[in-house]
Amino acid sequence: MAAPLLDANDPALESWVESANAASSDFPIQNLPFGRFRRQDDSAWCIGVAIGDQVLDLRRAGLVENHDINRLIRLKPETRQALRQAISEGLRTGSAQREKFEAALVPQSVVMLGVPCDIHDYTDFYVGIHHATAIGKQFRPDNPLLPNYKWVPIGYHGRASTIVASGTGFHRPLGQTKAPDAQEPAVNPSARLDLELELGIIIGRPNAQGVPISIAQAEEHVFGITLFNDWSARDIQAWEYQPLGPFLSKSFASTISPWMVTLDALEPFRKSWSRPEGDPRPLPYLDSKANSDRGAIDIQLEVWLQTPRMAAAGHAGDVISRSNFAEAAYWTVAQLVAHHTLNGCALQSGDLFGSGTLSGPRPEQAGSLTELTLGGKQQIALSNGELRTFLQDGDSIILKGFCERPGFRRIGFGECRGTVLPVYRGT
Ligand code: CA
Repeated sequence: MAAPLLDANDPALESWVESANAASSDFPIQNLPFGRFRRQDDSAWCIGVAIGDQVLDLRRAGLVENHDINRLIRLKPETRQALRQAISEGLRTGSAQREKFEAALVPQSVVMLGVPCDIHDYTDFYVGIHHATAIGKQFRPDNPLLPNYKWVPIGYHGRASTIVASGTGFHRPLGQTKAPDAQEPAVNPSARLDLELELGIIIGRPNAQGVPISIAQAEEHVFGITLFNDWSARDIQAWEYQPLGPFLSKSFASTISPWMVTLDALEPFRKSWSRPEGDPRPLPYLDSKANSDRGAIDIQLEVWLQTPRMAAAGHAGDVISRSNFAEAAYWTVAQLVAHHTLNGCALQSGDLFGSGTLSGPRPEQAGSLTELTLGGKQQIALSNGELRTFLQDGDSIILKGFCERPGFRRIGFGECRGTVLPVYRGT
């Protein structure tokens, strides 16, 4: 069952911001993602909406009273929908508000884009069933998926303080590792540094502690979706993860893209959600007709790798993987919210859920290097002749995402870029 088309999603709309009308733009007037920007290092963060190659400063346009984006994302769904409608009307070709809005535009090329809101808690899920199966096979060839996987959305609590903005570098982590033939562990720079292709789900509306969020209400609590790279040190992870899961192998850095694409903008790209024949039906608190009818979201994803040699040659990098959220995910966004709060856990405005690595069903669609290289056993050949298993110093990973459907305007997520710096050696 298709939801009625929101006026702001009408594919016929065009903007007086010319760059937004290009078919290849991630940010046509049908998208209007929210984020934070500043004009200089020391100035305050402002709330912005991406339109073409520009940012609309919402306060200057008279659409918000202050720069508190965490307050904005907790608005009721109908209020935030009205705000999106007002932005859309002001940016439309022929708008009487053009002059006022034009004075509130700033080119994206001259501003710094940040982490899109203050992130409080960060939970990383594990919804990518093809990833879970491939990783499980590396540890347990005969029994890759553990028995709980198809019943409970698996997750762990991550570290919010080291989530960094796109465009930021981070140091290769040191960690305790133990080679299989070594007697004892030692502290070394990670030699198996990896990426994880994920989406970030930003919680807008909180719930009171003790009060679960039903699957029917779950999406009212979600503000939007970003790209998310959960950098992972596989050698540290392999030694530390049992029995409580990853710790220092993940908490050194994760990179988030600057724009939160709202569920309203993603509405035309919803899909039915189902499971393979023979898989268990979700327990009732994770099941609903609406979730089956439209729980999935068709988001195409790409992983790009740019080596230092490519960067020096002005080469944008190679696409090393392509995947799709709807194909990769075993659980929906609504199911993650309902499960997270089943025990009464309080979500806050600005909490982040990582989806888990979104590997597609085929090996070349893997969202991590450990899958693409079979645990480091098989090198990837890049277009300039370089080889990689895991990431080397100076390598950049760029995640991209976009939605396309005949009869609708393509919308994109921008990019999520991070660069590996050498291990920290002091100043
Ligand atoms: Ca992860």
